[in-house]
Amino acid sequence: MKNDRGSLIRPDPLPDSASAPVVTPLSPSVVYSSDTPDALDAQYEGRVQGYTYAREGHPNADVVARRMDRLEGVEGGIVTGSGMAAVSAVLLGLLKTGDHVIGGNQLYGRSLRLMAEDLPRMGITTTLADPGDMAAVAAAIRPETRMILMEVVSNPTLRLADIAGIAALSRDKDLLFVVDNTFTTPRGFRPMEWGADIVIQSLTKLLAGHSDVTLGYVAARDPALNDRMRVFAVTTGLTPSPFDCWLAERGMLTFELRYDRAQATAAVLADHLAGLPGVNQVLYPGRDDHPDHALASTLLGPNPGNMVSFVLNGDRAQANAFTRAARGLSFAPTLGDVGTTLSHPASSSHRALSAQARADLGITEGFFRVSVGLEDPQTLTEVFGAAVAEATG
Ligand SMILES: *Cc1c(COP(=O)(O)O)cnc(C)c1O
Repeated sequence: MKNDRGSLIRPDPLPDSASAPVVTPLSPSVVYSSDTPDALDAQYEGRVQGYTYAREGHPNADVVARRMDRLEGVEGGIVTGSGMAAVSAVLLGLLKTGDHVIGGNQLYGRSLRLMAEDLPRMGITTTLADPGDMAAVAAAIRPETRMILMEVVSNPTLRLADIAGIAALSRDKDLLFVVDNTFTTPRGFRPMEWGADIVIQSLTKLLAGHSDVTLGYVAARDPALNDRMRVFAVTTGLTPSPFDCWLAERGMLTFELRYDRAQATAAVLADHLAGLPGVNQVLYPGRDDHPDHALASTLLGPNPGNMVSFVLNGDRAQANAFTRAARGLSFAPTLGDVGTTLSHPASSSHRALSAQARADLGITEGFFRVSVGLEDPQTLTEVFGAAVAEATG
């Protein structure tokens, strides 16, 4: 048969519609077709906007990136395939052999691993310092130091970093100050307003918020740095899938509502836990018995967040009894889910540390970190109260 275009393999065009969808269409297409080589030239040369190949960029990623830019108060950020991909885009995309980087001594576990294992393997030296101790951070600076990477609130002990002090030091010494804002989220804290040069988010947590997507975001104040990180992310394949971006956007539409609800409940839960005889200590930045309460008020204002840590009176046996008794709560090492999740650092995130190193951080067998979700506050405090009583009674 001659010229039977019906037998060419390509999808049919979408039907016309005078009305528009209210939800962002999902664009899973890996490639985009152009009219002519000239048209492609125009695109590559930036004279017209257009997509070519999904690893290089696609509409669903850009929609999420622009929403994140608005939340963080910055322009030109990049969505990555995970929070760790964002951390990698910063560290591996911007540093080179011979450089030195300072990290917080309580960074996210995989960030610590990058600092301890992978950067040194590439000839990039690293020092960890307590972000609440300005003298220690200043003392770690060397002539070849290029960057400082910190989190605002430490995991799982919820201590505050001296962000303003580190920002001033970074400016003074001409260092890039990078803030991983995952724990605090842009509702709790906006690093760019405090002098950070680069902000990182794991959208996997509160921003996407439903534990069904792994995604990250990074943005620099300097567009040249965004370009370098974008090229590195595209080259090394750190870029995200359209479906993940589509899911993340859906989650982000309710981010503020979820954050406010979870935070309000966290305050109630923290106060409730503090009154229980089976609880030795409660750590919540919004409580005035928190060791960094003044700094927390300065940095976070009315938004101390949805994370609460507490120390159960007991050992591993009581910890086991508590997670068994805490019916309906997920014992799972994540945070920012719609449901409350419990994490036990001694057996998960901090298991690689010696018992002594854990004890130095205050992480005993009774230590739990709670990511407060969207449950009814009354029900949640009852579940915690009953489980603590059952475990320690
Ligand atoms: C979870 C997390 C990450 C890593 O994010 P992924 O999306 O899991 O790769 C980085 N930093 C912090 C503070 C986190 O909590």
